[in-house]
Amino acid sequence: MIDFHFHAPIREFLDYLGEYAEPAIKYFNAKVEIKGLKEVLDYYESLGIKRFVVLPIDSTTFLGRRIPNEVVKLDDRIVKFVSVDPLKQNAVDELKKLIKEIEPVGVKFHPQLQGFHPLDERALKLYDVIDNSGLLAVFHTGTSGIGAGVRSNIRLDYGRPIYFDEIAVRYQNMRIVLAHFGWPWTEEAIAIALHKPNVYLDLSGWAPKYIPQSIWNNAKRLSDKLLFGSDFPLIRPERWISEFSNINIDREIKDKILKYNAEKLINNV
Ligand SMILES: [Zn+2]
Repeated sequence: MIDFHFHAPIREFLDYLGEYAEPAIKYFNAKVEIKGLKEVLDYYESLGIKRFVVLPIDSTTFLGRRIPNEVVKLDDRIVKFVSVDPLKQNAVDELKKLIKEIEPVGVKFHPQLQGFHPLDERALKLYDVIDNSGLLAVFHTGTSGIGAGVRSNIRLDYGRPIYFDEIAVRYQNMRIVLAHFGWPWTEEAIAIALHKPNVYLDLSGWAPKYIPQSIWNNAKRLSDKLLFGSDFPLIRPERWISEFSNINIDREIKDKILKYNAEKLINNV
């Protein structure tokens, strides 16, 4: 299996969340223990997860914090993604440099926590680089447990899936993963994934028993487009996998979701 949405190391992730950490943990009703990266990956490898998409995040301008890109170099089991704050002056150069140095398979964006509209000119310049390099882009979409119930200037609008329909048209080499299937605009996200060959959905951030039925109803039509991701440490992979085993869809589709779709995306085939 490949976990397509993983936040590690835990300490760095919690530091990044800062004042939003406590409310987010409450929102997810999660138990988060601080453990070392190797210990965490060893444990999940023993449960059959061989690779982990670890997502750094650079919110230097909006939050004044980041999870540095270097974390993806800490373990060979990590599928490397990088993050650049689109609002930074030198963002394009920084991204080009990171692509050379780290050789990531993709770039992670969190428009709500990086404070940009997905169609912001400054972000488009980064999509251009990604498109030219044939890389993946993972975008947080839908609501956010981060900032839930707290006064903030986080805008849920930046997580609307519909903007990625336009982006998928403009950047046809960029393969786009809409993380968390855009709830409460899940049907919007499903429509885009069905319509655009370069748009995928990750099923992270939700325990499978709470994932909207519309996803499972469309699982056959979306069988090449759905990806297993947990959102560790907010949702634990073992819980995700065990609840997923009770979902009533074909074994073949399940195997694609747990492994083969991610493999294809990572290997660009
Ligand atoms: Zn996440």
